[in-house]
Amino acid sequence: MRVRKRKGAEDYLENHPQYVILNPEDAKGKWHLVFGNDNPIHIEVGSGKGAFITGMALQNPNINYIGIDIQVSVLSYALDKVIESQAPNVRLLRVDGSSLTNYFEDGEVALMYLNFSDPWPKTRHEKRRLTYKTFLETYQQILPEHGEIHFKTDNRGLFEYSLASFSQYGMTLKQVWLDLHASNYESNVMTEYEQKFSEKGQVIYRVEAQF
Ligand code: SAH
Repeated sequence: MRVRKRKGAEDYLENHPQYVILNPEDAKGKWHLVFGNDNPIHIEVGSGKGAFITGMALQNPNINYIGIDIQVSVLSYALDKVIESQAPNVRLLRVDGSSLTNYFEDGEVALMYLNFSDPWPKTRHEKRRLTYKTFLETYQQILPEHGEIHFKTDNRGLFEYSLASFSQYGMTLKQVWLDLHASNYESNVMTEYEQKFSEKGQVIYRVEAQF
C-alpha cells in the first residue's frame, strides 16, 4: 500500500498507547493482559489502513484483533479507524511480519489473516512475499498446532504462488474461492484494496490453509 508520508504520524501513534502497542517485546506471552481477557487472538499481517481489522473487531467482540503493518503512515490511518470504531478488542502493532516470534509466544495467536499482500512479482523478490516459506515457518511457530492462515487477494499470480507455497510446506488447503464475491461466503469484511479492486471488476480469490 502506497501512501504519502503523513505529518506527525509517529507522534500520533505514540500518543495512543491504549491502541498502539509501543513495546511489543513486553507483550510476548502476555497478550491476554494487554486485552484484559483470555479471548482468542487473531492477527492480520499487512493490515494497511485497518478497515478489515476494525470491521472484524466490531463483528466479533469475543475475539481480540491485532493489525500489524510496517509503515508508520499507513498504521496512522488504521488508528483513525480504530479510534472512530471505539472497539475495545483491537490493537495495532508496527513490526515486520518476519519478526513475529519476537512478539508472540508459541501458539499465542489463534488465527492469522493476510489480505492483499504485496505481490512482489519478480522471481528475485520471492523471499519478500508474505507467503514465502520462511514467513510460513514464522507463522507456524506463533499459531497452535493445525493453525490456519486465511488469505485474500485479487492478484492471480500471488494466489497461484501462495497455493503452491502452502502445499509445498505441507499445509492443507481447506477451502478455496476463485471468485469470493460471487460465492455464498457470508460475513465477509472487505479490506480497502478489496473494495477498490472489486469495484474495478477484479475477482477476489480466497483460501483457508491449515498447518
Ligand atoms: N490488507 C490491506 C493492505 C494491503 S497492502 C488491504 O487489503 O487493503 C499490503 C500492506 O502490507 C502494506 O500496508 C504494507 O505496508 C504491509 N506490509 C508489507 N510487507 C510487510 C511486512 N513484512 N510486515 C508487515 N507488513 C507488511
